[in-house]
Amino acid sequence: MSQSTPIFTAYHDGSWKPLPECQLPINTHALQYGTGCFEGIRGYWDGSKVNLLFLREHFERLARSAATLLMQAPSVDEMCALAVETVRRNKPTQNIYLRPAVYKKGTGLGPVMVGVPDGYMCYMIALGDYLDTAKGLNVCVSSWRRVADNSIPTRTKAMGGYLNSALAKSEAVLNGYDEAIFLNDRSQVCEGSAENIFIVRDGILHTPDRTADILEGITRRAIIQLARENGIEVQERPIARTELYVADEVFLVGTGCQVSWVRTIDKRPVGVGAKGAITSRIQKAYEDAAYGRDPARASWLTPVI
Ligand code: PMP
Repeated sequence: MSQSTPIFTAYHDGSWKPLPECQLPINTHALQYGTGCFEGIRGYWDGSKVNLLFLREHFERLARSAATLLMQAPSVDEMCALAVETVRRNKPTQNIYLRPAVYKKGTGLGPVMVGVPDGYMCYMIALGDYLDTAKGLNVCVSSWRRVADNSIPTRTKAMGGYLNSALAKSEAVLNGYDEAIFLNDRSQVCEGSAENIFIVRDGILHTPDRTADILEGITRRAIIQLARENGIEVQERPIARTELYVADEVFLVGTGCQVSWVRTIDKRPVGVGAKGAITSRIQKAYEDAAYGRDPARASWLTPVI
């Protein structure tokens, strides 16, 4: 595989093709109405092979997203096998990111999904850090509210829901910030544009609970487990906006951003303005697991050979 701009092979509705040749008609339902759902899965290069992190968990969530959104996904086993095959065919020698998606591929007019055929795709890209995990993030509380669960189900990775993320992230970038933090429609802290959030207060980790209009992140769940197994108390509860300004440490977690520490929120330094002790412990434990350096977490990884 060339390091520059490799053209990867992708799976699209029953065939394998170079990614640029996987095309859709402009009147595709998913393009016109955002009727699809997707996943993002990382593969970590350990020096001899790529290990896919939480492969099955991601496809179980994709199956739940599809069911909630009245779409028909392939079976979890089939999606896992296609993902492994995507990596195998492309023989990467670096970190990668897989993007599988279920989508409405009909071309009829109108948003009704009943009777509209479903499609499936899985492609991959090479991916290093999504956010700079070293220097600390400067984030803002977004002027955009998180879409409510009863409007676009936030527990799903619905394509259409990402317009909400796109607006918040774009506003943040236009204003010179790295990332945006959403409040939900009850003005509670919710999540980043594509990350869950944790704050540290008095040595305890706090994160919004699963009814706070968040995506139930797979990294979030892993971080809660790692923290508890390292003797750090975790509370899932509603978090008020100004708790962000008085927290000792804040970090974002997700497949893309991994564990990224926050340096400032709305121009206010978080804690002492440096990466905190709990964040450092959690980040190291997560990276050790992802890169296959922690034998106790081997079950989190699917090696592709
Ligand atoms: N929230 C949102 C809105 C996201 O898009 C993501 C990324 N999938 C996350 C949280 C983090 O989820 P995960 O850890 O499963 O990647």
